[in-house]
Amino acid sequence: MNRISFDTTSVFVGGRWRPGASGETLPLLNPSDGSLLAQIARGNAADVDAAVHAAEAALAGDWGRLSAAERGRLLLKMSARVAAQAEELARLEALDVGKPLRQGRADALALARYLEFYGGAADKLMGETIPFANGYTAFTLREPHGVTAHIVPWNYPMQIIGRSVGAALAMGNACVLKPAEEACLTALAFARIAGESGLPAGALNVVPGLGEEAGAALASHPGVRHVSFTGSVAVGALIQAAAARNAVPVTLELGGKSPQVVFADADLDAALPFLVNAGIQNAGQTCSAASRILVERPVFDAVLARMAERYRALTVGPALDDPEVGPLISARQREIVQGYLELVRDSGLTVAAQAALASTLPAGGFYVPPTLVAAVPGEHRIAQEEIFGPVQAVIPFDGEAEALALANGTPFGLVAGVWTRDGSRALRMARRLQCGQVFINNYGAGGGIELPFGGVKHSGHGREKGFEALYGFSTLKTVAIQHG
Ligand code: NAD
Repeated sequence: MNRISFDTTSVFVGGRWRPGASGETLPLLNPSDGSLLAQIARGNAADVDAAVHAAEAALAGDWGRLSAAERGRLLLKMSARVAAQAEELARLEALDVGKPLRQGRADALALARYLEFYGGAADKLMGETIPFANGYTAFTLREPHGVTAHIVPWNYPMQIIGRSVGAALAMGNACVLKPAEEACLTALAFARIAGESGLPAGALNVVPGLGEEAGAALASHPGVRHVSFTGSVAVGALIQAAAARNAVPVTLELGGKSPQVVFADADLDAALPFLVNAGIQNAGQTCSAASRILVERPVFDAVLARMAERYRALTVGPALDDPEVGPLISARQREIVQGYLELVRDSGLTVAAQAALASTLPAGGFYVPPTLVAAVPGEHRIAQEEIFGPVQAVIPFDGEAEALALANGTPFGLVAGVWTRDGSRALRMARRLQCGQVFINNYGAGGGIELPFGGVKHSGHGREKGFEALYGFSTLKTVAIQHG
């Protein structure tokens, strides 16, 4: 079942597959059983340099000469191929990330949809004419930045490639993609699909490797004109500092501690599935995971009891068995999450429910039991820090003001959900929540490819997804013509 149908040990530069300059490889593990899945190239600064030059050549050559409509058609071709290969891509993601198959399928179809959306949008972003002084005609042009860097984490490789590379290509940039060292098979498969779809050589280059080698070289390369990064706050700060030295804009998506706020008048039957699923999806390794559930006191016990019931019934297992919760990405991530579970125990917090880990789980897999923690004080580390595992904190509140104070009371601000039947309150909350997306009586809007996404505070800045991403992946030029 670990069979990978293509060579995983190469970098993809200038439309060609070749070994990395170091000749070294890195092991890729299957999180479901800890076995060796594949070897990937240990790309380094020389590979990054070659990739940036290949991207520059593409901009000066075949890729740069395409019209916006032609770029759009290419993205639509890539979208169709991704959709046709969704099952294989889902299997690769399941093996590589430990993601349950159905989530892998959803991610593959999301990638296809991003390419479709941005393919359709490629020739629809227009400049403006400006009413300026008499004797002048002035207008603006939307232009690509040039070479864009895409440093991607391991949790949603396909979705994040879709939203950043898809938008960047639509605007005519040439991309250098650095997938995470823990999971990069679908990035390599995507490069193959791009090549087979006729994307001109160098428009997309993929250099797998370590963050501190290939990633750092890419973020600081003087030929890169824009950096898109998704990952941890600490690395995001390094990326921004590196890009600042070249005066280059960055988009940072750095995770969160997102709340769902449940008022006593909410439709609890509608809310319940979203409350739990948004905490356990991808084993909680989701930047927009709802890791805090804030519940108004009159319904606190009822919500907690119903969530606990659901937790006890969760299935945990190897990704290819398509359980509700798969393993974590790595032994390191499991250690981090286990550390938080110890903190729960040592601080005397109440575990409201924990899913059982079957004794038949593969011994080498990186599993942790999904855990629901009750009545967590808002300032506790469990309620403040991004755990990135299937652990949710349920926190009681009294009234709207306290709900807002709790919801806004972390260093993060990515997304929030509000459950209420009171329309005015929903709007007040939407206006006052400090975050990039608010969902009223839903959470996540089914992925919402069309909806601009990004954070405030430590969750980062800049927006991807939706039409808005096209502004981020382009720059504006003003032309003023004096003609008398
Ligand atoms: P990370 O930030 O270390 O890695 C993300 C990407 O950045 C990877 O491609 C990595 O190779 C690259 N990278 C690492 N160091 C780099 C450097 N010095 N210069 C340039 N690129 C570099 O994240 P991680 O180690 O995979 O996870 C650590 C924590 O980050 C997680 O526990 C979680 O809290 C958070 N995280 C958030 C998201 C998200 O979606 N926002 C995704 C993954 C991880």
